[in-house]
Amino acid sequence: MTAQLIDGKALANKVKGELKLVTAQLVEKYGRPPGIAVVRVGEDPASKVYVTSKKKTAEELGFGSWEHHLDASVTQAELLGLVRKLNADPLVDGILVQLPLPKHIDSALVLEAIDPAKDVDGFHALNAGHLFQGRPSLVPCTPLGCMRMLEDIHYDVAGKSCVVVGRSTIVGRPMALLLLNKSATVTICHSKSDVAAEVRRADVVVAAVGQTGLVKGEWIKPGAVVIDVGINRQADGKLKGDVEFEVAKERAGWITPVPGGVGPMTIAMLMQNTVTAATARLAK
Ligand code: NDP
Repeated sequence: MTAQLIDGKALANKVKGELKLVTAQLVEKYGRPPGIAVVRVGEDPASKVYVTSKKKTAEELGFGSWEHHLDASVTQAELLGLVRKLNADPLVDGILVQLPLPKHIDSALVLEAIDPAKDVDGFHALNAGHLFQGRPSLVPCTPLGCMRMLEDIHYDVAGKSCVVVGRSTIVGRPMALLLLNKSATVTICHSKSDVAAEVRRADVVVAAVGQTGLVKGEWIKPGAVVIDVGINRQADGKLKGDVEFEVAKERAGWITPVPGGVGPMTIAMLMQNTVTAATARLAK
C-alpha cells in the first residue's frame, strides 16, 4: 500500500484564498484590512527568510504589513518599547517577534509583553492557558496547521491513539492539547521515551523533533496518519523530515511530505490567526 499524500502547499493555497475573501469583506465592513507587524532582531539568515515570506504572504492577502528590523545590539528596554508601541497601534492586529532573539534579550519577557489579543504566534501564557483549558484562543501556527490537515482529510481523532513526538512549547505541547481537546487519546514522547513502542501502536503520529529520519518507517502502523513537522537541512542543501519517508509511505494511510507539508501550513495559519485577531478587535 502506498499512502496518500497530504499536500500542505495546496491546502495552504486554499486557506489563503479563503482568507483573501474574508479580508476583502473586512475592508468593506470596517474600512481597513487586518494588519500584522513583524519584528526581526539582528541578522539571523533563517529569520530573514521566514520574515520575508510572512510579509509577502500578508501582502498577497491584502493585509497591512509592517516589518521592524532592529539591530542585534538593541537593548531589551528598546525592544519592549517597540512591542508596547505596537500594542497601542490601532491598525496592528497581530504582532510577531521572530525568534531566536539575541542572547542578551529575555525572549520570554518579550513574548509576554505582547498584548494577548494580538499574539498571533499563540506563545503568550494567557493564550497557552486558554488552550490548556480547552477555551478558544490564538493557537501556535504549526500545530494549528497540523489540525487543519487532519480536518481536510476528514480524519476524526476522537478516541484515536495519537502520538506526538517532541514536547516543545511551540509544537509538541500545543499539538497534544489540540488533539486532546478533540477527544484523542494522546501520548507525548520526548528524549527519554521509548518512541518505537509508542509509534507502533499509533493511529496518528506527529513528529516534531528536529532529527532526520528519527521515526523509522517500519514503526508505522499500517494505515496510520503521519504528520511530519521536522525540517532538517541535509549536507546537499535538501530538506528532510523527522520521519523515514520512503519506508513510512509504504505503510501509512496518509503522510505529509517534507518539504511541501506542514511548512506552508504554518504561514497560512499565521495569516488565519491575524484574521481571527482582526475580526475580534474590529467587532468590538
Ligand atoms: P525543539 O528542539 O524545541 O524540541 C524537540 C523535541 O524533540 C524535544 O521535546 C526533545 O525532547 C525531543 N527529542 C529530541 N531527541 C529525541 C529523541 N531521540 N526521541 C524523542 N524525542 C526527542 O524543536 P521544535 O519543536 O522547535 O521543532 C521540532 C522540529 O520541527 C524541527 O525540525 C523544526 O525545524 C521543525 N519545525 C517546523 C515548523 C514548520 O513550520 N514546519 C515550525 C516549527 C518547527 P526533550 O524535551 O526531552 O529534550
